[in-house]
Amino acid sequence: MDQIIFGTIVTPDGPIENGWVAVKAGRIAAVGTGDAPQAAETFDASGSYVLPGIIDGQTHAGSYGGLPGLRSTTRSAVAGGVTTIVDMPYDNPDPLHTVERLEAKVGAISEHAHANVALYATIMPGQSAEDVIPLIERGVVAFKISGFESSPTRFPRIAADQAFDLLEALAPTNIPLGLHNEDQEIVRARIARARNAAESGIEAHSASRPLAAELASTAHFLELGAASGAHAHIVHLTSSRGFQLVDHYKQDGYRATGELCVHYLWFDPATDGPALGARMKVNPPIRPGQIDALWNEVTSNRVAFVSSDHSSWPIDNKFTESIFDAGAGVPGLETLLPAFFTGAEARGLNAPLLTAQQLAERPARFIGLWPQKGAIRPGADADLTILSPEPMLWDARNAHDELNWSPFDGRRFECRVTRTYVGGKLAWDGSAVVNAPGEGRYVGRGSSHWFA
Ligand SMILES: [Zn+2]
Repeated sequence: MDQIIFGTIVTPDGPIENGWVAVKAGRIAAVGTGDAPQAAETFDASGSYVLPGIIDGQTHAGSYGGLPGLRSTTRSAVAGGVTTIVDMPYDNPDPLHTVERLEAKVGAISEHAHANVALYATIMPGQSAEDVIPLIERGVVAFKISGFESSPTRFPRIAADQAFDLLEALAPTNIPLGLHNEDQEIVRARIARARNAAESGIEAHSASRPLAAELASTAHFLELGAASGAHAHIVHLTSSRGFQLVDHYKQDGYRATGELCVHYLWFDPATDGPALGARMKVNPPIRPGQIDALWNEVTSNRVAFVSSDHSSWPIDNKFTESIFDAGAGVPGLETLLPAFFTGAEARGLNAPLLTAQQLAERPARFIGLWPQKGAIRPGADADLTILSPEPMLWDARNAHDELNWSPFDGRRFECRVTRTYVGGKLAWDGSAVVNAPGEGRYVGRGSSHWFA
């Protein structure tokens, strides 16, 4: 064996105390307890959890810095125990909507990435739905479109007829179509109304993008998905009602899933808004009074998986007079794992198992790579994350994302990522990123599927 890691091994069946994982040639060779095989190297993580490498199902590496943004984003990923990011297509200045753009991004991954990178693609207004075929052949894991125009060139709105065509094109495949779920007309009108009323604080943000705009967009898309037979995925829902809506479609036999981001499980504009302001501005907005209800959605199995929605915006983008001029999105790769684990533990849940499911196994299934990724089992890739029970106050100045701000700044986590291995190779040693840019790989979609 190349390497043995001792600790509490979190397998898909639950944690094995006093266990070990044996790694050979970048793969997990064996998992056990008691006597371990001989190995060239050993690492004793007794008292810590050895988790499957975290897969962040929603990252925006290039929304500000373009493709070179992969470097700091994936450095931050491995420091946060994230071994694979699933990167969104809305890169600056052009989104990933052609094979040419895909090849450029794959090239940037081989130059810059510290973590593995799987890719979403998108289509632009007017583009043919048939253009998805070469992108699928080249391994994209999913497509994403938006019901709301964040930028006319980088992040456009796709109208209903084109969305329906795209769903029909994807229906014969296992490839999900994700939706950024906000109704453009309602949001634009409500923002204009709030501006006229001289509202400018974070509490006006949620009201200006009301839950009705989110849920109406969601329901509309789910119905198009049902009619086409495609896998319709809602990339972020902010309320329990959203997850229940998705679940109705699933119960009716349609392929529908809904994703949650970890900040919706931690922040409430009513209590955190005054201190955080634009630092907690995301779209769709964090709603008041939803935290407990959303944890209930997680434990009721109506959440497909939990992601960071990491956005690579510098803090300057948040310092605007009006909340409506501030950028939306927050950094989150180094807080995803400790925040989810800490929140689960505080609610008396089986935090290690739930974390392995929501942050590794389920996103791996979503991108078609289960059980090659997302599980500690023989034959799987040796992407491993060691989480130690060391309380810490998160200090965003220490982040590796070159952004160095966070809504979690000063929050207490009950755990810390002390090691990250990507493909059996140490990438983060608890204090520094120790692998080289380019050692992360482009990960194409695998053949497993979410719906049996
Ligand atoms: Zn996002």
